[in-house]
Amino acid sequence: MTVSAGPLLEFDHSFARELPRLSVPWTAAPVPSPALLVLNTELAGELGLDAEALRTPAGVALFVGAGVPEEARPVAQVYAGHQFGAYQPRLGDGRALLLGELVDRDGRRRDLHLKGSGRTPFARGGDGKAAVGPMLREYVMGEAMHALGIPTSRALAVVATGDRVVRETLLPGAVLARVAASHLRVGTFQYAAGDPEIVRQLADYAIARHHPDVAEAANPYLEFYRQVVDAQASLVARWMLVGFVHGVMNTDNTTISGETIDYGPCAFMDAFDPGTVFSSIDHGGRYAYGNQPGIAQWNLARLGETLLPLIDEDLDAAVGAATEVVSSFVERYDAHWASGMAAKLGLETPDAALFRDLLVLLHDQRVDFTRFFRALSAQLRGGEARSLFVEPDAFDAWAARWEALLPPDRGAVAAAMDRVNPVYIPRNHIVEEALTAATEGDMAPFHRLLEVVASPFDERAGLDRYAEPAPAGSRAHVTYCGT
Ligand code: AMP
Ligand code: MG
Repeated sequence: MTVSAGPLLEFDHSFARELPRLSVPWTAAPVPSPALLVLNTELAGELGLDAEALRTPAGVALFVGAGVPEEARPVAQVYAGHQFGAYQPRLGDGRALLLGELVDRDGRRRDLHLKGSGRTPFARGGDGKAAVGPMLREYVMGEAMHALGIPTSRALAVVATGDRVVRETLLPGAVLARVAASHLRVGTFQYAAGDPEIVRQLADYAIARHHPDVAEAANPYLEFYRQVVDAQASLVARWMLVGFVHGVMNTDNTTISGETIDYGPCAFMDAFDPGTVFSSIDHGGRYAYGNQPGIAQWNLARLGETLLPLIDEDLDAAVGAATEVVSSFVERYDAHWASGMAAKLGLETPDAALFRDLLVLLHDQRVDFTRFFRALSAQLRGGEARSLFVEPDAFDAWAARWEALLPPDRGAVAAAMDRVNPVYIPRNHIVEEALTAATEGDMAPFHRLLEVVASPFDERAGLDRYAEPAPAGSRAHVTYCGT
């Protein structure tokens, strides 16, 4: 297919132009019969794109990488990465392409990237393809995170290819078009680290794109590192506060921008349990819910190693300075998490003992993490949260301590709590149900779910099932890697 999409979009390609050693020009594989499954009209608007034009055959062709405008210069990006702790010196976009960069309505530069667009030189043994289910999972999870106010890449569209993809079974194929602040990863720095000149160019590019203010600092590269550490500390704290489990926190899935990226076997937990794992491939629980902050810090240490030659000519001095920054992750994370937890509980200031005792209680009694906080604000309006507990006396004792710390205007406290505690998250059993229906050709449950999670804080009539955990006795859901 060679429909020209030239007038639809104006691409820049600063990454390909300024860092030519970190990508290879590549084009998408042709697909038999592209059909638009879902288009993000709100995001299209943000990008200044005409949603109606994107629905035409030329628009849909663009989303599978056919008929891209001449100036787009699509590339496959190369990166390295630690996967489940093991270093892979050369990963890269095995089934993805960076189509180019768009400047949005607010003047922000954003990548437009395809996933499932065919094999590239980095495909290794992979087929270069993606299936409808995992691409729609990425779509709905990203939209839910965005609605929760958590930094994330977002899907612009999912297009069914008409192809069959071979996994455990034959599945309908799809391409995801997504938008991100950039696709610079810790793994990009790990790959570049082989050549001091390239790592400097990459750091300069990343600074200009994400942290331009550090150029003024006494040691810009150290300050850049500090800002990435803080962005990740804030991001992971936000995940923890909504019960999100990323599932594959490899260094190649850890961004420099501080956005959530590469939604694979991810999910939100129901009952609070730090050991929660959804991914079928995470046998050791490396990326369990409760391990996420420690893993983020570990990944950031890998980033720091690549920056040492830029931080100081003297290696000992560089190591000392970088160690101080990566160590600060703990206090940064704690501060982000504690202020977020205070807001969830309607408190003006954090209270570490109160928080710790609550988590022990929720864990011991396997209380649904999301429902708990809404039940707690309901309690301030005459409702109750104690029925969520098998042994409510322990909760009552905790709640008395909590209430004693609240500001006097309980109505205002409850309203503030409801602005930060969602009613609706994409519950895994409902996500699975919607993806199964979509795989069988029925998109209606997916669209309904999207609508629900797009307004997570506003409780609406008739949506009770979206606010409830998986029925008791249903088997623990497992999500597959989506490759
Ligand atoms: P992910 O776990 O999705 O972040 O992918 C890890 C690496 O495997 C990346 O380099 C991907 O581009 C590559 N990859 C995953 N699935 C495929 C596939 N089906 N074909 C080619 N490469 C793939
Ligand atoms: Mg990845």
